[in-house]
Amino acid sequence: MSNNKYAPETKVTHLGRDPLANFGVVNPPVYHASTILFKDTAEMEHRAATKFDKGTMNYGRQGTPTVFALENAVAELEGGYGAFSVSSGLGAITTAILSVVESGDHILVTDSVYAPTRFFCKDVLKRMGVETTYYDPLIGKDIEQLIRPNTRLVFTEAPGSHTFEMQDIPAITKAAHNKGVLVIMDNTWATPLLCKSFDLGVDISVHAGTKYIVGHSDAMLGLIITTEELYQKVKETTFHLGQCSGPDDVYLAQRGLRTMAVRLKQHQESGLAVANWLAKRAEVSSVLHPALESDPGHHIWKRDMTGASGLFSFILNPTSKASVNAMVDSLNLYGIGYSWGGFESLILPSDPSSIRTATKWNAAGPLIRLHIGLENPDDLIMDLEAGFKKLSL
Ligand SMILES: *Cc1c(COP(=O)(O)O)cnc(C)c1O
Repeated sequence: MSNNKYAPETKVTHLGRDPLANFGVVNPPVYHASTILFKDTAEMEHRAATKFDKGTMNYGRQGTPTVFALENAVAELEGGYGAFSVSSGLGAITTAILSVVESGDHILVTDSVYAPTRFFCKDVLKRMGVETTYYDPLIGKDIEQLIRPNTRLVFTEAPGSHTFEMQDIPAITKAAHNKGVLVIMDNTWATPLLCKSFDLGVDISVHAGTKYIVGHSDAMLGLIITTEELYQKVKETTFHLGQCSGPDDVYLAQRGLRTMAVRLKQHQESGLAVANWLAKRAEVSSVLHPALESDPGHHIWKRDMTGASGLFSFILNPTSKASVNAMVDSLNLYGIGYSWGGFESLILPSDPSSIRTATKWNAAGPLIRLHIGLENPDDLIMDLEAGFKKLSL
């Protein structure tokens, strides 16, 4: 399947499977394993010496064919050299960062970053003597001006998962690499299917597999995908941190992957139907969705991604918190809760101004994030329309 002539939809149905190596069974077996037995001491010593090589089985924590099947599939899909499956999306982020920084380093992190990434920098990295500077997500090539002699890393996320700014990843990677600085991208929104981050120059891509890859709100999983140059380094750090993932969760991610292309098409289509409806409503001041032509990041999205997922936000005209809560509480089809990427729709009021440090969030009204699931979009619109009657604008 390492043949690039196939389209992404074809790849997700075939990658990471080898039925004929498994009695003809379509899906890879789920190995539950801690101890891995060796034929003799010579084999044990050989495996110990090669434990950081791709595909070596040494101990359950370092992976089994179940885990390698998922890792190889996502790495190939996104165009990286190899991948690591870890306990959660946040675990992927922290493990990737810890793979490349050391005490005394400085890192640059987008102000639109997933909030728990920020908390990790503020707590753990700070205690390790790693300094973080936040930057305007729209900075582009001017990131260069923030790079110091001890800057090691630029952390990016496109689009931001509450505010949906598109970052100019190729401009950032070019400026960073000119100064020997690495770039990590949180590519969860677009998945390995819709954004080939390595073509944009990224060194490490991280994903909350929990979202669209698992796709059914029933497992937590993180994925780190790297270039060949960084593979060993990330593998060693993943090992030293004791990061791994459970076989049943890995299996659910593999199963999710098989339908991800078709699910994403529907999330995109229904998401755009709801976004376009919202854009015409008098209650709404703006819709933050990079696939809308009116969005300031639309040209970057069009250049760097081949599609959109079903997560976006909108800003209401100024109204009270009580009015927003009354609207949200009245909805029948949108769950109130964190995470996204499952088959079901979700709604989340969110306040970016409380968390930003490098930029000011100036929207006059409240921001509401939607995940558009696989329900009929007409029903989702009908539910919102009824909910809007609860607003006192
Ligand atoms: C959810 C999310 C994560 C974290 O993933 P978990 O599996 O919940 O730990 C990281 N980045 C983004 C953009 C997310 O939305």
